[in-house]
Amino acid sequence: MSEVNPFETAQQQLDKAAKVLDLDKSVHQALREPMRTFIVNFQVKLDDGSMKTFKGYRVQYNDALGPTKGGLRFHPDETLDTVKALAAWMTWKTAVADVPYGGGKGGVVCNPKELSQAELERVSRGYIRAISNFIGPDKDIPAPDVYTNPQVMAWMMDEFSKSKGVNSPGVITGKPVEVGGSEGRGDATARGVIYTIREAAKELGIPLAEANIAIQGYGNAGYYCATLVQELLDCTVVAVSDSGGGVYNENGLDIEAAKEFKRANGSVSGFDGGEAITNQELLGLDVEVLIPAAIENALTKDNAHSVDADVVAEAANGPTTPEADDILCENGVYIIPDFLCNAGGVTVSYFEWVQNRNRYYWSKSEVYERLDKKMTKAFADVHSRAQEEGVDNRTAAYMVSIEKVAQAMKLRGWV
Ligand code: NAD
Repeated sequence: MSEVNPFETAQQQLDKAAKVLDLDKSVHQALREPMRTFIVNFQVKLDDGSMKTFKGYRVQYNDALGPTKGGLRFHPDETLDTVKALAAWMTWKTAVADVPYGGGKGGVVCNPKELSQAELERVSRGYIRAISNFIGPDKDIPAPDVYTNPQVMAWMMDEFSKSKGVNSPGVITGKPVEVGGSEGRGDATARGVIYTIREAAKELGIPLAEANIAIQGYGNAGYYCATLVQELLDCTVVAVSDSGGGVYNENGLDIEAAKEFKRANGSVSGFDGGEAITNQELLGLDVEVLIPAAIENALTKDNAHSVDADVVAEAANGPTTPEADDILCENGVYIIPDFLCNAGGVTVSYFEWVQNRNRYYWSKSEVYERLDKKMTKAFADVHSRAQEEGVDNRTAAYMVSIEKVAQAMKLRGWV
């Protein structure tokens, strides 16, 4: 993927929407930078007895609408600017989804594939100890993201609870159901993506039962998008990929077999249920819906011209650079922007936090129903704003979100 700085992308997107909104200068200035940024270095004992120092970040971008909320990544290429960008997008995401949170994000520079399970647990606990004074159920609430999972969340919740001497399930979301997680959290991001694709197809008159789908990234978001787009919308998934490469079958892929192949071999690349394709080839397939579900900067000025999809549903955060965005819009591609498209995860995280605070838990069908309502409303707000103002969907999503955050900042007397 290209070297575009994601935080500069986030700032450029904000600037574009601020111009259309004629945003007050003081609000615009305040929203261009995070309110708080923490960089921690902490020591972890490895299995061979040696000590290693790990670097972690936590960014609390803006908390005008409520405690900051956002995932944690364990990634060898994690940078402060990536975390800042993701924290900014969380601010817009919680606002557009209408959940009472601000935006935050965190990460640890590490390669979980090179850590044993015991080392992964010590890194997870070490990171939480290092930031424990800065987070909490009313302050800042982490969640899973790239290369972190419910088990990591369980260790982190446990470490925070021990350090504070209380049982505090609401400090972190995305936990296993047995320790306070919500039903329906596992596939919530993808389910939200699917609801927005359904709504976009209604607006554009795309018959989904005849639609072909290509998905880049076959992790949590990508795999569940693949299963749910078939199960709920009756579409055909013709291509999937991951960091190792992709696979294409014009008649549709066997999603479960591809998952099993990835589990056994570490990648979908080499799966014999279709022909091998590269990630770049996948992004250029003639499909109704392209779902980038990997990492940022997948679509750039170098490959955006080759996109041949009617709809790009951004399950990933920041998959499209501003130049690529312009090219896609010029070519009439309907983009469901990331912080709207993938807001299902944070929405069910919010449901989890509400359930934790009430110590009263909902059924899966209740969670799905509430999620559908929130995503459908968020999509309608953005789509109608885009139509009214004659702007692209991303700018419209920014406008809806910025107005909510700016109003809260004004009412609090910050600007
Ligand atoms: P994950 O770690 O489960 O999966 C990531 C997938 O992307 C893996 O299959 C990996 O091989 C693939 N990948 C990594 N680098 C790639 C590359 N250069 N080219 C092609 N594929 C590549 O992560 P996830 O939780 O599924 O997150 C994926 C995206 O969705 C991220 O942008 C994340 O921020 C976003 N997202 C996730 C959630 C969630 O709840 N999981 C919520 C909102 C947004």
